[in-house]
Amino acid sequence: MSALAEMTAPASTRLTSWRLLLTNRLATVGFVLLILITLLIIVVPVLPLPDPDATAPVDRLKPVFSAGHLLGTDQLGRDILSRLLWGTRVSIAVGFAATVIAAVLGSAIGIVAGYAGGRTDNLMMRGIDMLMAFPYILLALAIVAALGPGLMNALYAIAIVNIPFFARNVRGVTLGYSRREFVDAARLSGRGHVSVILAEILPNVLPVIVITMSTTAGWMILETAGLSFLGLGAQPPQADLGSMLGEGRAQLFTAPHVSIVPGVMIFLIVISLNVLGDGIRDVLDPRLRSGALARPGPSTEVARDRDVPANSAPEASLSIEGLETGFRRGENIVSAVRGVSLHLKPGECLGLIGESGSGKSVTALSVMGLVASPPGIVSNGAIYLGPDDVLAMPQTQLISARGRRVSYVFQDPLTTLHPMYPIGRQVEEAISAHQRVGGSECRERAIALLDKVGIPDARERADHYPHQLSGGQRQRVGIAMALANDPEIIIADEPTTALDVTVQARILELLRALQRERGMALLFITHDFGVVSEICDRVAVMKDGEIVETGATKEVLAHPQHDYTKRLIACVPELGTGASFLERVAKLFGAQHRGATT
Ligand code: ADP
Ligand code: MG
Repeated sequence: MSALAEMTAPASTRLTSWRLLLTNRLATVGFVLLILITLLIIVVPVLPLPDPDATAPVDRLKPVFSAGHLLGTDQLGRDILSRLLWGTRVSIAVGFAATVIAAVLGSAIGIVAGYAGGRTDNLMMRGIDMLMAFPYILLALAIVAALGPGLMNALYAIAIVNIPFFARNVRGVTLGYSRREFVDAARLSGRGHVSVILAEILPNVLPVIVITMSTTAGWMILETAGLSFLGLGAQPPQADLGSMLGEGRAQLFTAPHVSIVPGVMIFLIVISLNVLGDGIRDVLDPRLRSGALARPGPSTEVARDRDVPANSAPEASLSIEGLETGFRRGENIVSAVRGVSLHLKPGECLGLIGESGSGKSVTALSVMGLVASPPGIVSNGAIYLGPDDVLAMPQTQLISARGRRVSYVFQDPLTTLHPMYPIGRQVEEAISAHQRVGGSECRERAIALLDKVGIPDARERADHYPHQLSGGQRQRVGIAMALANDPEIIIADEPTTALDVTVQARILELLRALQRERGMALLFITHDFGVVSEICDRVAVMKDGEIVETGATKEVLAHPQHDYTKRLIACVPELGTGASFLERVAKLFGAQHRGATT
């Protein structure tokens, strides 16, 4: 099974890379154009074209579409079409050769510098800095001036001035990889530096090299044309795009086609290379590919053809009915939760318990459309907040309900609080997002809230930054922000997991007290039955994206129906029962093993 997966995986990723590239319309156009141009220049020698260098003074400067000369002739009577195709051949060959040379040398420098570090790195990079200190076209001119004009010398010059781009990019990436554990492991296994570089580093930096090549190839062709235009590249009578442009310049007004034709060709090549390069970068960059850099929309995508079950508990504050939320992967949707139905009555505390990865957070985030889309999508179900289906709400209404009707407390308060603002200001912001209150009143309310959640000396503490608070205090600030607008429902997603046991107990007490006092409904997510038994009236057990058991906490604790619930309950350690706890865990693993083999 796993061998099969390994065998099919590379083929399928390659397939999706292709498909991804082809879904980028611009890149596809660039790709097709480049293929056409490449085919043309490959077949040039067998095409029935006149000699590109044969002059015919009688036929000079014929316009386009003249008999025998489709694109006309130049100032020496040479056929422009023939020169164009032969010239394109030269320009592209030189541009690509320069790209390959720059890529090989630059990447080698980058990899060695990044891998070696220390003095070698310093020395090599200062050398690269010296190259980069000159404007590169000026440097190319200087190199050609020193080497003498000619196509090969132009090629060397362009390759040299582009080395720094590769060296810099590749060194940065190599530096990151060469400190990683898998490289250390390879080194510790006794492999030599060359072998580590070739087997461990190179495959990882290859995408960066390809991306840099695809985005600089267009430039290099342009630079080749630039040098030839100045008379430093191709020498007469040889045609390349730059020299054709340069020679046509004198006839710009009398016979514009002589320079326009090679100009258009340069434009087409460079633009198609650039859009294709952008497309390749989007496909090869894993972050862009997973959609992480694609900015998620303001709410989760909802499938148009979803099933909308009716609200089976109209008296509840929150009813989740048959919720199915998944993530797009290519054209497929991988569902993370399926058929989840939950009902949260006013003033009730419902525990949602399950192991990590069982879909608790996805369920919780789906309630207010907070699952990032792309790639998230709600494909089925309905979420009733009172009488309204949240999934059918207009976006503005949904956004105004967040924090006002339903608010969240998240697991890690350090990542949810802004590190650069004092905490008081952040609570004020939560208040002013939904209420119109004056500055000083807003501040008073924020301080009162901080006081309410048990921050000592709230007035002074309001000016402190998150890093000046302890973990428990930060979580209290998170709770204060959730309370800011007196919501009907608070969803707390593992709010105490990052805290130690004593602080956890105090936070739980606080949540419970606040909930009783304000009559809010609380959806409490955790993986710990101990916590559930402390604060929840009812509990829903979640496994692999589905609810396997629901009931009053006492009932479920006393008579768990599902095997999985029993195991979760068995995992709650009791004080002074260390040995038996381990025994239970060992038994549990034995059971799992037997389950897996049968
Ligand atoms: P937990 O119960 O620990 O809160 P989650 O609800 O976060 O688990 O995750 C449920 C499932 O959804 C997991 O299998 C996870 O891999 C998947 N998942 C969560 N977020 C994403 C995402 N952005 N892209 C793809 N899959 C995701
Ligand atoms: Mg979670």
